[in-house]
Amino acid sequence: MAPSEPARGPGLLERLAAGPVICAEGYLFELERRGYVQAGPFVPEVVLEHPEVVAQLHRDFVHAGSDVVEAFTYYGHREKLKVIGKEEVLEPLNRQALALAREVADESGCLFAGNLSNTNIYEPDDPATHRLIRAAFEEQVGWAVDAGVDYVIGETLGWLGEALMALDAIKAAGLPAVITMAIHREPKTREGLTLGEAARRLEQAGAAVVGLNCIRGPATMLPLVQEIRAAVACPVAALPVPYRTTAEAPGFFHLQDTGCGCIPGGRPFPTALEPFMCNRYEMAEFARAAQAQGVGYIGVCCGAGPHHIRAVAEALGRTPPASRYAPDMSRHSFFGTDAKIPQRYKDIAAEL
Ligand SMILES: [Zn+2]
Repeated sequence: MAPSEPARGPGLLERLAAGPVICAEGYLFELERRGYVQAGPFVPEVVLEHPEVVAQLHRDFVHAGSDVVEAFTYYGHREKLKVIGKEEVLEPLNRQALALAREVADESGCLFAGNLSNTNIYEPDDPATHRLIRAAFEEQVGWAVDAGVDYVIGETLGWLGEALMALDAIKAAGLPAVITMAIHREPKTREGLTLGEAARRLEQAGAAVVGLNCIRGPATMLPLVQEIRAAVACPVAALPVPYRTTAEAPGFFHLQDTGCGCIPGGRPFPTALEPFMCNRYEMAEFARAAQAQGVGYIGVCCGAGPHHIRAVAEALGRTPPASRYAPDMSRHSFFGTDAKIPQRYKDIAAEL
């Protein structure tokens, strides 16, 4: 099979027409927690330094129910590699990330997605930044095409202008584009456009799927997704972070932990967010609510663990391989109701 011939069953659009598509994201945070990514620069050097760890996380997310294996090239673009002074690993890093994702997509029958991300150099009125971004996106899409991706995700984009550049690069390669924007405190793009307006422009420019990812938790993302759902006809995406964001702290940058005084710098983002984490049942509720709102592309971003993805998959009626290990507290040593649990130990439960 030539690398340019995807052989993984139905494509993204066919799957979306048949029902929700589940996409696990959050590789950066999960691998940071495991000790393979440095918080701060957040560059995925792990792809080259510990490829087996990345491949295993792809497998873990597929085992948990993801329909998509997304190449871990988030922040693997030229502009980010300049920040850490390692532009020479740009191409090997991208090609390796794509190869790792492809291997797991091929063995599992999942969709294989390329990835473009925010560059953090975009200036609306500075064409020089536009040229750099276009070049960065074009080279990454080129490597994704070589690897035989089914589609490309442009994600965590705060500026509509930059999102349109990602979309252009993906469309120029003839691939479906999933474009998800990242929205901070103000429920608008960085240019100040409403999300409905931004989504309409992305749809008109040819995006296959438009929506939101990252920054906001389910509680503060779903209302914005509703605005997008009402504005476009194409499938809509929602991939929140699994944190309990609120009206006062709508994104994970804003969360403050009054119960802890030892966080360096005082800001829980990005390495002390545990007290705010949504449990799997909350993520299942999110998935059901998203589906009820007409969201067709459902996932979880930074902070996601495989248990969140399994909860999303089960909430959408799936039984991924990980469901083999779904909880069964009826056989717990103290709290179980099963006849094989000694009554004496059931009685102890009240004393524990
Ligand atoms: Zn994220």
